[in-house]
Amino acid sequence: MPLDLTGRQYADVPYEEKERLFEEVKKDLRYEEYLYGCYECGICVAACPSARFYDFSPRKIAQCVAREDADLFYTLLNDSVWDCSQCFSCDRCPRKNSPGGVITLMREVAVKNGLASAQEALEGYGRVVYKIMATGTQVSPDMLQANAFPDWGPHVNDISDNLDEWRRAIPPETLHTTETSWKVDDKTITELYLIWHMTGVMDMIREIDEGLFMILQDVMEEKLEDEGYDVSFD
Ligand code: SF4
Ligand code: SF4
Repeated sequence: MPLDLTGRQYADVPYEEKERLFEEVKKDLRYEEYLYGCYECGICVAACPSARFYDFSPRKIAQCVAREDADLFYTLLNDSVWDCSQCFSCDRCPRKNSPGGVITLMREVAVKNGLASAQEALEGYGRVVYKIMATGTQVSPDMLQANAFPDWGPHVNDISDNLDEWRRAIPPETLHTTETSWKVDDKTITELYLIWHMTGVMDMIREIDEGLFMILQDVMEEKLEDEGYDVSFD
């Protein structure tokens, strides 16, 4: 569906709310490093892989925030930022902007505020988030299934059907695994759990997916208790 930039779909959202969310993005310390102005040259669009496949433009993101257009900001916050693949090819901007960085901030604000669009965008990723956060390591190869990643194309079936062979073709023997990736030691996983708790990552998960939060909470609190930390995520 083409991106509707008229804002009609969000006419019932108070302007003050749109402004509040925009201010939250601007308050982030990284914002000043990500936006210096915009020439509208379109170099970021030419470099952007997502712009080739979606009705999506990093130039529109940069222009919208540079012009401080809160209405358009709110539309892009809901209907556009999730099309970015966060590759940062747009960092070659001659104005030294990082549209991908601005998008990171917008996504974080969308998640922290529990926007329905953020919940919808992340709906299919609960299993992946659980795996990464619970084990402190990457998605295991056996999770590469066509039904879990329909947007990865038809070749996913061939890979998952012949996973053993594909894994054995990788030179380092430590990667000849299908159900695991690599082991994270206890000290590292304990530090990761504490960081995610203290920096508010777990609060963000709670806003987006209460069920996932509760499962992760159980895993993390038990591990931290075993390691001698008295931490409650409530
Ligand atoms: S963000 Fe940078 S690359 Fe993109 S249009 Fe603006 S000045 Fe050009
Ligand atoms: S970070 Fe996002 S906006 Fe920038 S080039 Fe990559 S996909 Fe495009």
